Amino acid sequence: MTRMIYVSFTILLSLLLGGCSVEGGDKSQPQMVDYFADNGTGNPLAVVQQPAGEYHNGITYVSYQGPFEDPYIAAYNHEAQSWLGPFRAGTSDLGRRVGRTKFDNHGKPTLLIDDLGYIHIFYGGHGGDKHHGVNTLGDVHHGANKHSISKRPLDITEWEAVDNISVFGTYNQAIKMDNGDIYLFYRHGAHRSDWVYQKSTDHGRTFQPPVSFLKHKRRTDVKAVDSWYAWVTRGEGNELIISFDYHLCLDHDAGIDSRGHVPRRHDVHFMVFNTETDEWRTVDNQPLNIPLTREEAEQKTLVMDTGDMWTFNGSTHLDNKGNPHVSINMGKDIGEKAGGPKLTYHLRWDGNEWLGGSPVNGQKSGISRGDFEVTDPNTIRFIISDSDGKDGVVAEWLSRDGGDSFIKTRELLRRKNSTFATTAMIKNAHPDAQVIVGQIARDTADRKIFLLGQKGPIQRPLKDATLPKDTSTFVSK
Ligand code: ZN
Repeated sequence: MTRMIYVSFTILLSLLLGGCSVEGGDKSQPQMVDYFADNGTGNPLAVVQQPAGEYHNGITYVSYQGPFEDPYIAAYNHEAQSWLGPFRAGTSDLGRRVGRTKFDNHGKPTLLIDDLGYIHIFYGGHGGDKHHGVNTLGDVHHGANKHSISKRPLDITEWEAVDNISVFGTYNQAIKMDNGDIYLFYRHGAHRSDWVYQKSTDHGRTFQPPVSFLKHKRRTDVKAVDSWYAWVTRGEGNELIISFDYHLCLDHDAGIDSRGHVPRRHDVHFMVFNTETDEWRTVDNQPLNIPLTREEAEQKTLVMDTGDMWTFNGSTHLDNKGNPHVSINMGKDIGEKAGGPKLTYHLRWDGNEWLGGSPVNGQKSGISRGDFEVTDPNTIRFIISDSDGKDGVVAEWLSRDGGDSFIKTRELLRRKNSTFATTAMIKNAHPDAQVIVGQIARDTADRKIFLLGQKGPIQRPLKDATLPKDTSTFVSK
């Protein structure tokens, strides 16, 4: 009798414990969230600092702007479905400026893996600082462009600072060629500066001096300076392709806009750089002089004259026929307060002329940012971050007719009272991990960072995604 009661009791106990674990007490079933980090800071990601991530041998390496605007790196193992990091890869001067009252947001990390497997992070620049001396290729603003290299190949846990690029750099874009050469493209200063590249033939251990390819120049007809925003990626063979828009950088007393200096940008351009011959050309093989001036650009590299419409530069990619496609974000005025839609547009070169100019997405307000991939000339797939009322949305938009029309095929992420900052496509991306996005929520200064692919966001246990935040005094909820 006693034994029977005992047996019944142990069965009951095991049932109770079993019930308990189903209710959520089981350590093998941690609470999961769909972001991998919650310590993004300010505007933590963008399309221009690129690539922000790379897929390599089963692992997606990602970067974003974390506390004090430092670069943070994490890694996702697709087979093990496990995360490592984030780890801090360097120390940003932008996040430690004396008297800082707001985020600078220009020194977001750019990530590249060299042929030996070392991971490079470029970050922290917004034109350099006065104490760096004279910038012979432009003007000076804040921060210092910096470079960190992982201490061991494919290991994100420890980093080494190397002093081998110009401190004046802004908007780093890092590209590796088939022979292992690395090209680092950036604007050599603040708005009124040339765009340049530096080349490394020793896996990023040393870089050659900067070479200007887009010229900043004072205008004589209006009180303004010619300025540019560029986006660079691999073309065919040893070529690089560049899309860029023009910034009319007004003096504050130019008298053209009552707001003084505004982000007035126009038009979209395209050109090609042959890294083997060091020659630059147009899409239809006319030679170009570098650094390219506005006058020559207007004659030779124009993809679309956007008239009164303002632009925010997008990206460019080749289709499988070797012809370029470009995207450009465009609206009546870039200032959010001015209202009106700012959509993403697509154009493509068919071998003879630029076609398209249709909007990819449709919305009533807010801004639109993203990147795309193209296979055959007709099949173009965008991932775009925009708004649906007060919701932030990241969605896939697909064209099967060469960009004449796009349909929203898949929503990857949606959050209330938010917008999303997004990166360009991750290099060599796994289908499950194509872009990194940061949620800019209106009710918190904490920025959740997501890794998104065709199945939506990759999950992580809540306890691992919960990280120490920026403690800057001006950061408020
Ligand atoms: Zn300007």
